[in-house]
Amino acid sequence: MPQKTVIGIDAGSTAAKMVRFDGRRILASRVVDARKWPSLLELVKPGEKVCTTGYFRRKVRHDMTLTEISAARLGVAGYFPGAEVIIDIGGQDTKVIDLRDLTLQMNDRCSAGTGAFLEQAARYLGVSVEGLAGLAAGARKAVDINSTCSVFALSEMISALEKGAGRKEVAAGLHRALARRIAELVPSSGKIVAIGGVARNRRMVRALSDELGVGLRVPREPQLVNALGAARFALARR
Ligand code: ADP
Repeated sequence: MPQKTVIGIDAGSTAAKMVRFDGRRILASRVVDARKWPSLLELVKPGEKVCTTGYFRRKVRHDMTLTEISAARLGVAGYFPGAEVIIDIGGQDTKVIDLRDLTLQMNDRCSAGTGAFLEQAARYLGVSVEGLAGLAAGARKAVDINSTCSVFALSEMISALEKGAGRKEVAAGLHRALARRIAELVPSSGKIVAIGGVARNRRMVRALSDELGVGLRVPREPQLVNALGAARFALARR
């Protein structure tokens, strides 16, 4: 007898995500380093259909695959049916999907617009990527970081610190710098939803919202949305 639950896997370039879904709720989920995606398959129960999406989707065993755009659309639809624009901020790329005409703007050449930028900066500042928002929380102002290339932006950060800027103010500046890069990809109107691992960083979402001048909606577990979209697809095809 076929299982009532399905598995959605998002094999991203930085992190691999998995959800078990029954059509109403996420019953289990897992996030692992991208290279550890095989460990997710050990969790699949006999009879469960698996739909995979994400950069490495064809490598992972699957019953069906789905593009990242379709996975994001299906995943977001469960939370915000009226969404018009999805900003998916991952580790190696940022995608902006306009659901009204299904166009895609993508930044995958320059890490200044992705989570990798904050990861590098956090490492330099001696905090975890999760701790970066907390560090910025007490900032009195945000240090200006203007370079559009992450290598130059990081050296701007280092020279600001050498000139006496506070770590908190630099951390605040890093969020704003990333927000500026991402905002360049976003259309000027529309109801926007932010997803991807970087959308777990509330300060980042606020910086982006300030930059765009509009409020952003964020699902409860933004990093799992594409895996959930894949699971929804598997359920419809089961
Ligand atoms: P991909 O699908 O491209 O592999 P994800 O959407 O899984 O990427 O996002 C991975 C990125 O999210 C990484 O750069 C990671 O540092 C960042 N990230 C994950 N959790 C958090 C968090 N709690 N706060 C800030 N950044 C986070």
